[in-house]
Amino acid sequence: MAKKIVEMVLESVKMELPDTKTLRLKWPEDYGVEFKTGQFITLYWPDSPKYKRAYSLSSCVLDSGYFEVTVKRDGKMGTRIVDWAKPGDTLFVIPPTGRFLPVLEPEKHLICIAGGSGVTPFRGFVREATRTGKQTRITILYSVRTTEDIIFEEEFRELESQNPHFKFLVTCTRLPDDAEWGGRRGRIDADWIREQVVDLPNSVFYACGPTALVESTEKLVVGELGLSKDQIRLEKWG
Ligand SMILES: Cc1cc2nc3c(=O)[nH]c(=O)nc-3n(C[C@H](O)[C@H](O)[C@H](O)COP(=O)(O)OP(=O)(O)OC[C@H]3O[C@@H](n4cnc5c(N)ncnc54)[C@H](O)[C@@H]3O)c2cc1C
Repeated sequence: MAKKIVEMVLESVKMELPDTKTLRLKWPEDYGVEFKTGQFITLYWPDSPKYKRAYSLSSCVLDSGYFEVTVKRDGKMGTRIVDWAKPGDTLFVIPPTGRFLPVLEPEKHLICIAGGSGVTPFRGFVREATRTGKQTRITILYSVRTTEDIIFEEEFRELESQNPHFKFLVTCTRLPDDAEWGGRRGRIDADWIREQVVDLPNSVFYACGPTALVESTEKLVVGELGLSKDQIRLEKWG
């Protein structure tokens, strides 16, 4: 298993939103890496080897030949990537690690809670489940400020049409009252989460993103739904 740090070429970039960019990093020839959907890689620029940041894979284990990460303009690294990273650049990549892994067993129901860019690893979860025809039920509960802030909307809607076990549910927290939107408004709360639960013992809750959102979600599911810690997987971004 290759665990060494590798310099990768940026094969392509895509602006998902005005402040959010997906990077596709091409594996070098004969890169024999073992990894799992939901893990993160750590990146640094060749000219700043001490400045390293972690990014969840937004691609999945079936996407062979490259890693994709989706980065929001925030702080020094986030701004450099979103505003400046371009095809042909190289970045050093510390190989995938982490335990934020989807349990793709047939009887399980993954309830994936995200705010803003925290949705990135869930694209990998749903891609893998859909392409391998898994029976696992997956529900994403996604909180964004307005409808302009939904990352991967088109792909999630497409995956919903391909996978009868997948639901993509969005709530907007700061949409003007007169804006056209048939979906939910307001923050993620215990009632909304409870509405999604069909089989509590087989439910596994995932929360990803800024620490405050992840910790408040943890409080909701432990405090209000009485779940045990082993039914909860958290990825705190700091
Ligand atoms: C496991 C893991 C996975 C992650 N996955 C992703 C991902 O998929 N996508 C993603 O976008 N991020 C992800 N992150 C977050 C990412 O690693 C970085 O933390 C993020 O890009 C910001 O890094 P930075 O160096 O640019 O921020 P920094 O420059 O260190 O800034 C951190 C924060 O402080 C603020 N700040 C900086 N300087 C000042 C100042 N002078 N005054 C006030 N505020 C200031 C910045 O605005 C920012 O909010 C992940 C983190 C972890 C741990």
